[in-house]
Amino acid sequence: MRMTMSPSPYDSALSELRSEIDSLDDRLLELMAHRFERVRRVGDLKQEAGTPAIRDPRREAELHDAWAKKAEERGLAPYLAGRILRELTNWSRRSQERSDSASPSSKRASTRVSFQGARHAHSDLAARKLFASRGGAELDAIPYANFAEAMAALERGEVDYALLPFENSLVGSVPEVGRLISKGACHIVDEEIWEVEHVVAVPPGLAMEDIVAVRSHPVALAQCRRFFEANPSIAVEEWFDTAGAAESIAAHPDGRRAALCSVEAARAHGLEVLVTGVGDRRRNLTRFLLMAREPETPAEGIPATTTLHLKLSHAKGSLHGLLGVFEGQGLNLSRIESRANPDRAFEYSFLIDIETRLDAPEMQGALNEARRHAVSIDILGTYPCRGERAGSPECPAALSDSLGAIARPKPEPASQGAVVPAEAKAVARDEMTTRRSVRVGGVEIGPDQFTLIAGPCAVESEAQLNATAEIVKARGAAILRGGAFKPRTSPHSFQGLRWEGVKLLKETSSRYDIPFVTEVIEPGDVERLAEEADMLQVGARNMQNFPLLRALGRVRTPVLLKRGMSATLDELLLATEYLFAGGNDQVVLCERGIRTFERSTRATLDVSAVPVLKEKCGLPVIVDPSHAAGRRDLVVPLALAAAAAGADGLIVEVHHRPEEALCDKDQALRSEDLDALVAGLQRIQT
Ligand code: PEP
Ligand code: MN
Repeated sequence: MRMTMSPSPYDSALSELRSEIDSLDDRLLELMAHRFERVRRVGDLKQEAGTPAIRDPRREAELHDAWAKKAEERGLAPYLAGRILRELTNWSRRSQERSDSASPSSKRASTRVSFQGARHAHSDLAARKLFASRGGAELDAIPYANFAEAMAALERGEVDYALLPFENSLVGSVPEVGRLISKGACHIVDEEIWEVEHVVAVPPGLAMEDIVAVRSHPVALAQCRRFFEANPSIAVEEWFDTAGAAESIAAHPDGRRAALCSVEAARAHGLEVLVTGVGDRRRNLTRFLLMAREPETPAEGIPATTTLHLKLSHAKGSLHGLLGVFEGQGLNLSRIESRANPDRAFEYSFLIDIETRLDAPEMQGALNEARRHAVSIDILGTYPCRGERAGSPECPAALSDSLGAIARPKPEPASQGAVVPAEAKAVARDEMTTRRSVRVGGVEIGPDQFTLIAGPCAVESEAQLNATAEIVKARGAAILRGGAFKPRTSPHSFQGLRWEGVKLLKETSSRYDIPFVTEVIEPGDVERLAEEADMLQVGARNMQNFPLLRALGRVRTPVLLKRGMSATLDELLLATEYLFAGGNDQVVLCERGIRTFERSTRATLDVSAVPVLKEKCGLPVIVDPSHAAGRRDLVVPLALAAAAAGADGLIVEVHHRPEEALCDKDQALRSEDLDALVAGLQRIQT
């Protein structure tokens, strides 16, 4: 007999809350629609008045600050709230940007755009994103089997635009698309940056253990190697497109196959999402170019990119001469790609992106001069820059932006006469003694940047890591630190969350848009960790762990090499030599205090290590005042001393609740201590 039970108090409370959340979401949508409508009216007003849609980064930054403050007052995480506003203002800005030339479809009911792949493919989704902000006629995105056909459809006038993937942050450029656009038959008129997220999707009811194969585009499969390593019984099946794979497995639900595709493709084909975030790397961004038969001029006042295709004469120094022309005009080249000439062996042409608009006087000046070095120059297009670039209101600016000119003594290039141990041959090579920077994620350490790395000693939980990331990001740290594998003096102390900690670091790093550094202690972990982290730390206890150094020499992820507690500076350079010998020269050196007879502090910070190391080699040198001090109250003065001595940055330990920290709680800075540190650094700014 079935009994009818009235819902439990828990169930009723839950459903009441859920329905409240649903109506709040409805209101949010309504408010967003309202806001966009007003923004469009502002755009119309500006157009009627003939005022260009000039970006005002200062006003945007003020808006973000005010919003972050209000969010905090309401108990919301200001950084996350800021990110939402940033998205909203991005879209608002785009919807005000009208191109000067009328779009070819302005008189038609729909805009036809060709793309490669099936419906709901990433190209299709990127087209929807781009045209939602371009406004105008309704989008009619038309799939084609390959890039050449998508482009040919444009050339024949069957479509108004073609949207093609030009490069991907993980796999680099798409050669076929480079070839098609460099023919110069069409023009680049816009771009879109699309964040690719892979999910494993299955016909409803299929469980993980039932899957015999996963089907997808080869590039997507290659980006999810870890998933296949963890599930060795699952076969890999290549398909022409991610969304096409989803469609095909939905058509044969009893095939026990899954698709690796976007959430949108899974939903569109009625599939269930079994695993999200399957990619090996966190940020997987594809940059698409929008091609048209006629050029379009980006609205005035908005950041733009100009793409050129150059053929150089075979003369010695012609590339060098050409690059000098752009540098001479103060122009920034954001991308350069060499392309082989299929008609002439070993002759190359170059695709170059320059961060300015074509009609800018310095660009015109550079083009006139560049003609002296080039056999031909084709202007492929000038179009709005959709990616984030310096000057866009990050939330907040990294400390290096405000401290670029910190009053650090600028050491001369490392002197070749400096006494470096004879065996440190690679470290002492001429090109290695010139000041170099090391790039971590998108962040530069040295020589002109002052970089703050901050975060907890150890990753303890999702809540702890997020709360601490919130604190450090809001105060201008450019890199997050956090140990997942902890090298503890005692085996009874907390040893770290291991791979679970790495997963949390990846998630937090992505949420707060901040690269991270984490310590590696086992040679066997190097390869995997090198793919997951932005930078790998070698702790003081491992500076002379030679198998570990050799393994790190074999990867290309930057290394933060800490000085051993009783290591001389020459020994630190010889440890660096192990990394160089393997081919990894992306090294940042770190002074973290040495063991002396003094007992008032945990270690003795050797400030002289900074200028001495800089004299001996060209690598960036940073300082860890936290492990040297061992006491919170000493961290700020030691940090300021390090900055004044010429350090290229700092790595400090921060905890949202130091008293609860599982590791190094006495030296962890609170948010207010970090405020004091940043204020101190600003005081010694020139
Ligand atoms: C750390 O940075 O968490 C650490 C263990 O530091 P060190 O190796 O300098 O002791
Ligand atoms: Mn520590």
